[in-house]
Amino acid sequence: MSVRDYSLNALVIRELPLGDNDKLLTLLSEEAGRFNVIAKGAKSLKNPVMPACRAFVWANYEIHESSADSRWLRSASVIEPFTGLCADIGRLYLAQYIADVCMELSGPGEPAGDILRLALNSYFALTRDIRPEAQIKAVFEWRAAACSGYSPELSRCRVCGAERAEAFYLDVMNGGLICASCAGSGPAAAAEGEVPTDAFGTRTVYLPLRGQVPAALRYILEVPMKSMLSFELRDPDDLSDLAGICETYLLSHLGTGFNSLKYYHEVSQL
Ligand SMILES: [Zn+2]
Repeated sequence: MSVRDYSLNALVIRELPLGDNDKLLTLLSEEAGRFNVIAKGAKSLKNPVMPACRAFVWANYEIHESSADSRWLRSASVIEPFTGLCADIGRLYLAQYIADVCMELSGPGEPAGDILRLALNSYFALTRDIRPEAQIKAVFEWRAAACSGYSPELSRCRVCGAERAEAFYLDVMNGGLICASCAGSGPAAAAEGEVPTDAFGTRTVYLPLRGQVPAALRYILEVPMKSMLSFELRDPDDLSDLAGICETYLLSHLGTGFNSLKYYHEVSQL
């Protein structure tokens, strides 16, 4: 790779201190995916790049690249600071969790358009309070799972093909619906105290789908991203179910947990 200078728009998904004066930023951009850049003097209030070197800032960055592992920030101008994300500690942890999921679902040189737009839309919604925080978080998680290739099939039971049933569950590990009768006769019916598993030994997780939740889950995936939050769940139990389902689904497929999410739940319950 040759030495080059370029500019791009990117979101700061991590900032780490580097020595006394500098920062190491992890940026997420549509074209270049996730990459690190050293911001010299970024801790100094007098440095004009300082406002663009904070977590969750969306900015234009001028970068000097001397090798694939060596990039320096030349200058930067903030496009959207999303300062409202730091308004309270719960929101800050939620913003950090969204950034952590972006870290997980992106890589160097992999175009990151979908997950980047999803994060930006979610930050925008959080700073404008356009929907309950639990709904914004759930919609982010459900679409993030789809971005990562785990889009569930929600039109029929994945075992018998029934489109109508007395009740449906979300079969988390297999990414689809399962009707009550298939769920009742399948591996989930294991004796009490045992962890039910499928034929491959995978732990079975069936989550009940009630009220408006199935319609909301379909809606979130079917509409363009700009409309993904344009629905309202009037019953608080539905919102609570949606929140639980989307979080469980994403974490099960990523196969990891996040400290930011743990702290978010801790402060949200205070
Ligand atoms: Zn079935």
